[in-house]
Amino acid sequence: MPEPAPTAAAGPVAGASPPPALSVVVPCYNEEEVLPEFHRRLSAVMEGTGLTWEVVYVNDGSEDRSLDVMLRLRAADPHVAVVNLSRNFGKEIALTAGLDHARGAEAVVVIDADLQDPPEVIPQLIATWREGYDIAYAQRTARHGEGLIKRATAAAFYRLMQGLGGRVKLPKDTGDFRLMSRRSLDALLKLREHHRFMKGLFAWVGFPSKAVPYERAPRAAGSTKWNWWKLWNLSLEGITSFTVGPLKIATYVGVVVAFLAGIFLAQLLLRTILFGNPVAGYPSLMAVVLFLGGVQMMMLGIIGEYLGRIFNETKGRPLYIVERHLPSR
Ligand code: UDP
Ligand code: MG
Repeated sequence: MPEPAPTAAAGPVAGASPPPALSVVVPCYNEEEVLPEFHRRLSAVMEGTGLTWEVVYVNDGSEDRSLDVMLRLRAADPHVAVVNLSRNFGKEIALTAGLDHARGAEAVVVIDADLQDPPEVIPQLIATWREGYDIAYAQRTARHGEGLIKRATAAAFYRLMQGLGGRVKLPKDTGDFRLMSRRSLDALLKLREHHRFMKGLFAWVGFPSKAVPYERAPRAAGSTKWNWWKLWNLSLEGITSFTVGPLKIATYVGVVVAFLAGIFLAQLLLRTILFGNPVAGYPSLMAVVLFLGGVQMMMLGIIGEYLGRIFNETKGRPLYIVERHLPSR
């Protein structure tokens, strides 16, 4: 059984200050270098919005002094809340932990700590939300500081997901940077699966949504925690948690192979009847055996991907463990 999602009312400490209108949730892993600058820029932007606000920094088991930086920020600024996870759980889960602990009564903003998502876009997100949209998602118009190959693979991935995704449409060039109304957040928090492909979960929830275009900046400092292996795994996560399409491949490959084998058999029979049998089939036999072996292994692998996910979900563990939670004041 998934644990119930803590609601805005149940999450924070009793007797705490009244909830702010807006929460900004920031998952952080080894971000000590950028955090002070991030907080400075975020505060400047948030003060300009005229809304009451808090920022929830989630320390996702950083190995540097990110937690100390957060605690220092919190000591100096009552807007700061800190959620310290017991170890590194990965961005998607760190983000979920932050959303669980966000007290924002009207909306939440999700943003990366590395300043690739400029906080200066937040007022536009708020404006779109005020137009009546539940979700205002920031859409990249330019990808500065990212290579041609990364851009091409990202484009290919979005196209693939769009093709496989069925009813759930993934917006293109969109990360986690967005504003969500309280009701769409509450809906999102009901989804407690362990394999969390956030972009997909955001899309699954639905509600009126609108894109806000922005230019994605290169990382301000530190280094990205992504590499090709992680990106490949994220794509697998996205595909397997949102479509069972690959499971159907086996059926169609099987049908095509059987059909081709039928034609092959027919021409073999015909040739044997007409010209006799000179026994020359070894290479083609090998090719067919290896081909079928390969196809079968691949299909087993695909089934395994799904089976592994079922295994992980059935354990019913909590998504994360909080070492300490210090709410905003
Ligand atoms: N992050 C996290 N846990 C992780 C990896 C990353 O909380 O295990 C955070 C990181 O601190 C940053 C955000 O997720 O705020 C995005 O990470 P990154 O910049 O490395 O990813 P990219 O921008 O390349 O997608
Ligand atoms: Mg980044």
